[in-house]
Amino acid sequence: MVVDLRSDTVTRPSDAMRDAAKNAEVGDDVYRDDPSVNELERRAAEILGKEAGLFVPSGTMGNQVAIRAHTDRGQELLADEHAHVLKWELGAVAQLSSLQTRLLDFGDSGAPTPEQVEGGIVEEGLHEAGTGLFCLENTHNYRGGVAVPKEEIDAAAEVAHEHDVPVHLDGARLFNAAEALSTDAAALAENVDSVMFCLSKGLGAPVGSMLVGDQAFIDRARRVRKLFGGGMRQAGIIAAPGLLALENREHLADDHRRAARIAEDLGQIDGIETTAPDSNIVVADVADTGLNAEEFVGQIEQHGVLAVAFSETTVRFTTNWDVTDDDIEQAIDSVRTAMAET
Ligand SMILES: *Cc1c(COP(=O)(O)O)cnc(C)c1O
Repeated sequence: MVVDLRSDTVTRPSDAMRDAAKNAEVGDDVYRDDPSVNELERRAAEILGKEAGLFVPSGTMGNQVAIRAHTDRGQELLADEHAHVLKWELGAVAQLSSLQTRLLDFGDSGAPTPEQVEGGIVEEGLHEAGTGLFCLENTHNYRGGVAVPKEEIDAAAEVAHEHDVPVHLDGARLFNAAEALSTDAAALAENVDSVMFCLSKGLGAPVGSMLVGDQAFIDRARRVRKLFGGGMRQAGIIAAPGLLALENREHLADDHRRAARIAEDLGQIDGIETTAPDSNIVVADVADTGLNAEEFVGQIEQHGVLAVAFSETTVRFTTNWDVTDDDIEQAIDSVRTAMAET
């Protein structure tokens, strides 16, 4: 049997989610007629402590709709050099919002210092378009699923706000951050202006992400979503499983415990280096195995373990809803066998 640790997006919907899809009350959501979508948007906003929500087909669309809704052409987007919005969204900030970017090095903590933010903000002037948006990420994917504490988010956001720069939080895995920090997602989102989070990752929905913020922002975002081709019709079919996913947060603690186990055991294999993860993402440095990341991934795949090459020398393992303790044990044994054969 194959143990799929490529991502937390690979999960299959539960029977309850399939039933919810089948039985969903639906209407034309572009006309705001879909009760299931309306309820999902209301509930998402409520959980995050914001005024309003918007259902979008993907996290990428949620981020890019937010970026467009917050900014004017030519402005600067201030973000981490390893931000998902810049690294893995096909240059959308240039293609869809005509922005320039200014990069900070958020470091291992996954968050910048207030001084870094201050230094990165450009005031609008005769020769400067100015900073249009500041973007944070939690958990921080590329930096190893790091959970960024509320104090660091708030301190960074405060500097941006002093300069009237809005703050967007890419919270694809915000509930993992909340779990890791033993807090709730609303606290982490309290001082940012908009948040995107994915229903389709750790929460296990088949499709969809949410964007939340104040009503005026969501009204603008709704028009941008239409512009980007994200106006959906009887979307209650996918919103109904999303509603179940929203309440499906308890297993995240198990995902985190399993990731810790992976990090600990893989770290004992010759040539593999790991650090204790905050959440469900383990980034293993495989440089000393004599294989590059692609080769390592190919080698373990032959032994029934799927992971992704994250850089030239690092490999990402992500625990998810479909992976059990037994699967984890099997995966660790298989990696050990695979390495013994190289
Ligand atoms: C997965 C992810 C996204 C994008 O979500 P998709 O649904 O895959 O488009 C955005 N930001 C982060 C941090 C992610 O991990």
